[in-house]
Amino acid sequence: MASQRLGAIGSFVPRGSNLPQRAWAFRHRMIVLFALASSLAVAVFALFQGVEPGHALLEAAAPVLLAAVSWSARWGRRIRASLTSVALMLVAASAVHSSGAIEAHFLFFIMVPIVALYEDWTPLATAAAVVFAHHGVVGILAPHHLYNHPAALQDPLAWGLIHSALFLAICATSIVHWTIHERARAEENILLDRLASQALHDPLTGLANRTLLHERLSAASAAGALRGEPLLVLSVDIDGFKPVNDSYGHAAGDALLLELARRIQACCRAGDTAARTGGDEFTLLLPGSDGNVAAGMARRVMKAVAEPVQVAGTELHMTASVGVALGSGAEKIEDLLEWADQAMYAAKHAGRGRYVVYDGLRTSDSGCTLRVRPDQARSWAAYTRRLRDQIATAKRVGRLPEQTRGPETARRTLESLLAAIDQLPSGTHPTGMLLPERTALQEFVFHHELVQQWTDSLTLREILNVPRPAEATSFWEALRGTVTDPETSSAAETGPLGVTAAS
Ligand code: GH3
Ligand code: MG
Repeated sequence: MASQRLGAIGSFVPRGSNLPQRAWAFRHRMIVLFALASSLAVAVFALFQGVEPGHALLEAAAPVLLAAVSWSARWGRRIRASLTSVALMLVAASAVHSSGAIEAHFLFFIMVPIVALYEDWTPLATAAAVVFAHHGVVGILAPHHLYNHPAALQDPLAWGLIHSALFLAICATSIVHWTIHERARAEENILLDRLASQALHDPLTGLANRTLLHERLSAASAAGALRGEPLLVLSVDIDGFKPVNDSYGHAAGDALLLELARRIQACCRAGDTAARTGGDEFTLLLPGSDGNVAAGMARRVMKAVAEPVQVAGTELHMTASVGVALGSGAEKIEDLLEWADQAMYAAKHAGRGRYVVYDGLRTSDSGCTLRVRPDQARSWAAYTRRLRDQIATAKRVGRLPEQTRGPETARRTLESLLAAIDQLPSGTHPTGMLLPERTALQEFVFHHELVQQWTDSLTLREILNVPRPAEATSFWEALRGTVTDPETSSAAETGPLGVTAAS
């Protein structure tokens, strides 16, 4: 009980010296300036009081010197604050000596809250030591220097004690102010930490979000480039997640995501980062890990996801598709993420529930030439641009079905296809057209087919009210053939996507 009470009282005692450096430096500059200004003011006051000029200047010199040293010295905060604190007490003492007036003692009461602005016990204790020594020694040995009151001259000890008690009272009230500020700052820091954490974490799972992942990836990539250390990026997408939402409700879907996120996080070592980068998409960053770790890690994640999960009273069996990209720090982080994504999409297209390691064949394998009739390609381009515009409008007015995986790769592929078609000569004579890299093309075809399904659906009939022209269909069939017909795919020997796959 007694210790509890002591603890409660102790919580009102400030810790001290936790002012942020910038705030401390600003306060220190202000306090030193105040010490300098008040030394000069007291010197002028002493001259008006008839103090001999040499003596007045000598009394002002000590605080000015201390303040100047504490301004410029490279010593620690405590020493510099204590020097300023002594300077302020000497200014007050000098005012008292100049006039001997009792009223001049009020200057000590002005100085204490200023010293307390340092929010540090050392300068405050230094101020108290100076005042007690001054009042104790000068007050008893030469009281006429401190008091112009007959009662004080008769009993300097009692007056010294009364002054000390008042001095302690002003110290106590200053400490109360300091405590209030210190507590407010501590609460502010907790709030700032919480906000910073919220800005960098996914609210549902608590995993890192895209922003934090990018920060960590940039740091890992820079360190990799510097020390020649590899890094691994895994893109993980849960297979068939949408049906869980549709069958058991969004809350069950959330519970499932939470559990899977926990398991995926548990696969990581300290130093790795597990981020939620989309609805059911996770990205893992493993700094310092190379290709030897890749397969093991991908299998571990797939196994963790595949363990049965109890959701809404039902046992669910999920799988994940995993794409792995190996980095050396030399590549752009956007490329690494893109490669991991492409490998993950490749795993999806290869049948889901497997992992694919992006094998760096992207550039050597990128693109193949397709013989097309320019008029058919242009007809497809015109139709596709119209489709794109109508989708954009439907999206703007909120008539699009719930978005599935981010079709960013598809969008980029579309732009490069349209640009390539614009370069074709006019006429109907078949000519070669360079296609984008195959993984991206496959993703594009996948999404395009999805869009076709939407347009066929009842709710979205109005999205595409212009049927695809026959010549556009011919181009589309030829284009789709390049990713689905192994005969026309030059990447057939290295796997359909220029990647190595395993289940
Ligand atoms: P795939 O095998 O191709 O990955 O298909 P999928 O059914 O898993 O669907 P996809 O990955 O394309 O889309 C993820 C779905 O996750 C879309 C959306 O319905 C759902 N989703 C996204 N965010 C949340 C969320 O915060 N909570 C819940 N419950 N569902 C979400
Ligand atoms: Mg999914």
